[in-house]
Amino acid sequence: MEIVILAVVIALVAVGLISGLVVSSRKKKQLPPSAPSSTPTITPPAEPRVGEEAETPRDEARRTTEEVGLPGGTPVEETPVVIEPEAPRLEVPEPTAGRLVRLRARLARSQNSLGKGLLTLLSRDNLDEDTWEEIEDTLLTADVGVAPTQELVERLRERVRVLGTRTPDELRTLLREELVTLLGPELDREVKTEGGEGTPGVVMVVGVNGTGKTTTTGKLARVLVADGRSVVLGAADTFRAAAADQLQTWGERVGARTVRGPEAGDPASIAFDAVKEGIAEGADVVLIDTAGRLHTKTGLMDELGKVKRVVEKHGPLDEILLVLDATTGQNGLVQARVFAEVVDITGIVLTKLDGTAKGGIVIAVQRELGVPVKLIGLGEGPDDLAPFEPGAFVDALIGD
Ligand code: GDP
Repeated sequence: MEIVILAVVIALVAVGLISGLVVSSRKKKQLPPSAPSSTPTITPPAEPRVGEEAETPRDEARRTTEEVGLPGGTPVEETPVVIEPEAPRLEVPEPTAGRLVRLRARLARSQNSLGKGLLTLLSRDNLDEDTWEEIEDTLLTADVGVAPTQELVERLRERVRVLGTRTPDELRTLLREELVTLLGPELDREVKTEGGEGTPGVVMVVGVNGTGKTTTTGKLARVLVADGRSVVLGAADTFRAAAADQLQTWGERVGARTVRGPEAGDPASIAFDAVKEGIAEGADVVLIDTAGRLHTKTGLMDELGKVKRVVEKHGPLDEILLVLDATTGQNGLVQARVFAEVVDITGIVLTKLDGTAKGGIVIAVQRELGVPVKLIGLGEGPDDLAPFEPGAFVDALIGD
């Protein structure tokens, strides 16, 4: 009996030992081959793909030291390399001078329908009534507006008559001069950001949602940073949920802080806080993005009026820029009229001129509001906002 019990015990011990060996050898197989037990947890590198060599920890250490700029890629034995999370890298926006010239090709559509179209018509041997009508139609189709079109045609007719025979160069010069005159070369197009004694310049950006208001505010921050100014952004467009995030992203790229409030919060209090922050930081300029709901004129007036009044508790505003989408043509002019009745617009930003053949809207909108176009948007890129220069604009339309 005792012998039987002893044999059973020996058998059990033997089975236990064998299964233990199997389990532990399985466990070993699951561990990476050379991982010492004291190594801190490292996210395992991705499995090497076919044709790639597996990277050993030593390779990793060498690569890391090369990345942090240690000489010669000397491997640092056993010393864990701590990499601080990178601070967001600031972008250096393009200088603003000459941007319109750089972006002139973007006006291709307006160039073909307005500039080249006019030159072709004016070059005809016989400038009869029909041709003058075609010239008029070309201007109207490009959204130049009725009154400016008539003025231009009248002046062109007179000068062509005086000129007699015309060379292509003479025609180009003549058309250039008349178009530039219509654009008001004498108008002051500087975006004012002086501010007061110890207070930043304050610019309010208004316009219907979708016109490119938030994008323009972001691009304008870059224009100012490019010109060496420090900027604080106020995200007072609390109507569109993503507007504050969008603005903050623009700001972060150039090191401008964004003041924002709760979703659907009070735009006026955010605008007020933004200027307060600007003063506290000693910033040069505060840019305030607003919501442009054209629900009712009274609603718009109440909202923008309140933002303006509240901001002005800190000091007067330097600019109220109206953003208009050039592709909306006459509809844009109607919007412009409504906004001009609600607040005193001091400058116009015409966006999306890269997407329209109707470059003449620049002339029409200035006439409509009696306010200069100060900036134009020529694309979705971060530096596709250019100070408006009548001469360079006309040169882009008709070619030098
Ligand atoms: P908001 O609602 O007025 O603030 O409009 P957003 O700033 O969000 O802009 C609406 C859209 O217009 C975005 O897709 C912008 O990238 C685009 N946009 C703005 N300015 C321009 C421009 O000058 N050219 C082009 N092609 N697109 C633009």
